[in-house]
Amino acid sequence: MKVFTLKSELRPFLQKARSQDRKIGFIPTMGAIHKGHLALVHASRKEAALTVASIFVNRPQFNNREDFLEYPKTLQEDLHLLKKEGCDVAYTPPEEDLYDHPLEKITDFKFGEFESRLEGKYRPGHFNGVALIVTKLFNIIQPDYAYFGQKDLQQFFLIKQLICDLSYNIQIRSIPTIRENDGLALSSRNLRIPKEDRPYANTFYTTLVAAREMLADGKSVPEVKTFVGDLFSDNSRLTLEYFEVVDTRNFSIVRKINNPSVTALCIAGYLNNIRLIDNVLYN
Ligand code: AMP
Repeated sequence: MKVFTLKSELRPFLQKARSQDRKIGFIPTMGAIHKGHLALVHASRKEAALTVASIFVNRPQFNNREDFLEYPKTLQEDLHLLKKEGCDVAYTPPEEDLYDHPLEKITDFKFGEFESRLEGKYRPGHFNGVALIVTKLFNIIQPDYAYFGQKDLQQFFLIKQLICDLSYNIQIRSIPTIRENDGLALSSRNLRIPKEDRPYANTFYTTLVAAREMLADGKSVPEVKTFVGDLFSDNSRLTLEYFEVVDTRNFSIVRKINNPSVTALCIAGYLNNIRLIDNVLYN
């Protein structure tokens, strides 16, 4: 696996691959690589001739400074895991390679209503930061395929829309969420969950599954929201930020399920001070 820290060196390398008509698959990550990330690498290897993963903890997408500072950094182990999975190229830039220092930027995306929903509501500025780094990386890497996890369903929707709005010639793929045996979605932030809290971490997933069953049994969305709210208020370690049923075509909030095949249940909250999110598709 080739490792690049500078876009000025990565660009000519990829240009050469492109001139040989080798299709490029790209997986953006923030590192602390786990089996969820590796599933994206695996999908790229099956489809693209050259697989590129980036590792970069993108400061502008963090609305919480402590979350940024505490974000796990395990670069050597990450490179080892990516290499073992057959990734061809890792791009691990310092912040200076992507942003002027001190970090100043004037580009600002506006996503209208979308920004007031779910993650947009609870993480002001987050999607702006995500859109900026993803467009930067798309412009540097110019992939043919890009792989994202279903785990961040709203982010997937945003990037799919961005690809369309900005006319990128990129095929976007969504890869199902990889979970621990008890249902907890793998996440880099799981590394920060203290041992004594770990047994409660799968509550987000088990709640989603129970909520989906209730909806399928004919309970209304407001009834299920009350159930979820009560369940979280009964456990002092857990705080619910949102539980919403959404239409995945536009990420609008649904009060009655009319189109089961484009419906998803999304949840976010805290296990003590660790923020976790998860979702399941209705069908
Ligand atoms: P992150 O490093 O958390 O920014 O995630 C990088 C990519 O990996 C994103 O597209 C995530 O949606 C995806 N991802 C994170 N966790 C999982 C998981 N448990 N299963 C599948 N994909 C994941």
